[in-house]
Amino acid sequence: MSELIFKDKVAVVTGASRGIGRAIALELVQGGAKVAFNYLKSDCEARTLLAEIEKLGAHGLSFKGDTRDFDLAKEFIDQVKEYFGSLDFLVNNAGITRDKAFMLMDKNEWAEVIDTNVNGYFNMARAVIVTLLKQKSGAIVNISSISGISGIARQVNYSTSKAAIIGMTKSLAKEVAPYNIRVNCVAPGFIDTDMTKSMKEDVRQKSADAIPFGRFGSVEDVAKAVSFLLSERSGYITGQVIKVDGGLHMSY
Ligand code: NAP
Repeated sequence: MSELIFKDKVAVVTGASRGIGRAIALELVQGGAKVAFNYLKSDCEARTLLAEIEKLGAHGLSFKGDTRDFDLAKEFIDQVKEYFGSLDFLVNNAGITRDKAFMLMDKNEWAEVIDTNVNGYFNMARAVIVTLLKQKSGAIVNISSISGISGIARQVNYSTSKAAIIGMTKSLAKEVAPYNIRVNCVAPGFIDTDMTKSMKEDVRQKSADAIPFGRFGSVEDVAKAVSFLLSERSGYITGQVIKVDGGLHMSY
């Protein structure tokens, strides 16, 4: 039985029907948190996650809603506060890729990624921040990517969005630190999820070969770093970017 480091805490995780978000939700529940999550269209997967949360003896809340919609983000957070009576953590995780050679990238492929990965994070952070400021406590973790630090060919849209999130994290961290609120980033490398499943086998092998650990990471590897950054164990850490990448990118 793991230690209940999040007992009585309420966490919001975006994009938790699948992949990294799902693992984060379960990790926080195992730490004793009440977890609310949203997703875009995977109803069946969301129902399964909610059932799993309840099977662990915890309370969960599932919300079908697009993080790109400012009003819907606010509606989600209003529901969370009404259902659980409080709010402590936000994990901005819902993200997409639309990889393509830059010379072929159309404006929709650019806009969709920026809208989801940047505006969606803004909408959610904006929806929670007044509550956290008033209570003078809380923490936000934004999921960025190694792509936003070192750049990856055919990901100009995605790298731009993930670099933006690092700037957002640092500025917001400085702004809200006087209110005892911490804001940090986790930057995963290559992680085994639906997002990386579509990679061609030779590209996948080449990517794995470039990782000092020689393999892709698991969703649990990322979830554990998020849990650390939300917990009091990182109580003096803010504005940081923790890479969870098997050593892929070692400079600072
Ligand atoms: P994933 O398996 O594709 O899952 C994405 C999740 O986000 C799904 O739950 C999806 O909901 C949700 N979502 C997408 N757009 C949304 C929107 N507009 N509103 C609400 N929910 C939305 O992705 P992942 O690999 O777990 O990635 C999670 C995060 O980690 C992303 O920010 C990604 O950029 C980042 N990351 C991933 C990797 C990697 O190697 N996998 C590496 C670095 C960073 P539906 O199921 O309903 O579509």
